[in-house]
Amino acid sequence: MRSGRLGLSLGLDLLGARICSFDCLYCEVGATDALTLAQKPYVPAKRLLGELSAFAASGPPAFDVVTLGGLGEPCLNTGMDRIITGCRETFPGLPVAVLTNSSLLSQAAVRRRLALADIVLPSMDTLVPGEFAALNRPHPDLSLSAIRQGLLDFRSEYSGRLFLETLIVGGINDTAENLDVLTDFCRELRPDRVDVVTMTRPGAYAMAQPAPPDTLARFRAALGAAATDGGVGHGPAALRSRVVDHKGPSSGPAASPHETMARVAASLGRRPQTVKQLSVALGLPEDDISRAVEALAREKKIQARAELDHVFYQG
Ligand code: SF4
Repeated sequence: MRSGRLGLSLGLDLLGARICSFDCLYCEVGATDALTLAQKPYVPAKRLLGELSAFAASGPPAFDVVTLGGLGEPCLNTGMDRIITGCRETFPGLPVAVLTNSSLLSQAAVRRRLALADIVLPSMDTLVPGEFAALNRPHPDLSLSAIRQGLLDFRSEYSGRLFLETLIVGGINDTAENLDVLTDFCRELRPDRVDVVTMTRPGAYAMAQPAPPDTLARFRAALGAAATDGGVGHGPAALRSRVVDHKGPSSGPAASPHETMARVAASLGRRPQTVKQLSVALGLPEDDISRAVEALAREKKIQARAELDHVFYQG
């Protein structure tokens, strides 16, 4: 995985709503509705795995990895261990990956559950406390130093692959101070890979803006050199950008216009996307997506807005 892409991913939502320990300025699913540290079986393992079995019965998997994430922090789901095990039983041979904001890794029980995954993709955007507060807007009981230590503890206990992601927002965590402390941290953590990314979709709050390419290049060079193999490029961001809802591209019969509209509407209900992003996510031709988007806009089921130099559609 370090040397290439994770490929197409089946994304599973473990929260069912915008429930998170952070309320990041850049969050692409929108502002957090429940800012919480409460751990519960938000989407119960039995229900999720039942739906997954029914889906698996519809045909062979057209994806390369199963990714646990969703509309918030998946480690808040206390059934994550059963879900990881169940995914592996449902799709033998496919790796299970988890996206996490790292906030709960100071807890040994969370680390134990997470360690069952084949790939863990934790985020760490900044180690400067003021930047962390402004950018990630954490639950007030969270401590940045405890999160930092939790990630290091997890690294020492975990035998799977660890892909760190750092998202840079212009004017917030693009500072020399952050670059220095993150570089030291990467040296200590020794992730299998570091991915430095910026926003490619509108964030939850308008003040969040992408970082320019030269800033990303500076962070990539320093953090990549500090990580184990020095490699940066296609990691969590690539995985996220290729998450499919249920079916891989061109793996089955072409979808009817009605079915395409339903899938587009469901996907846009989760996050704003461009036609191109929808095409990749749903595995359908851009022309079909364009027609569905136009029809949905005519019916006033979705809205268009220009942002980040692209037209995004939102349910
Ligand atoms: S970006 Fe991730 S960690 Fe931040 S608020 Fe959204 S779901 Fe939570």
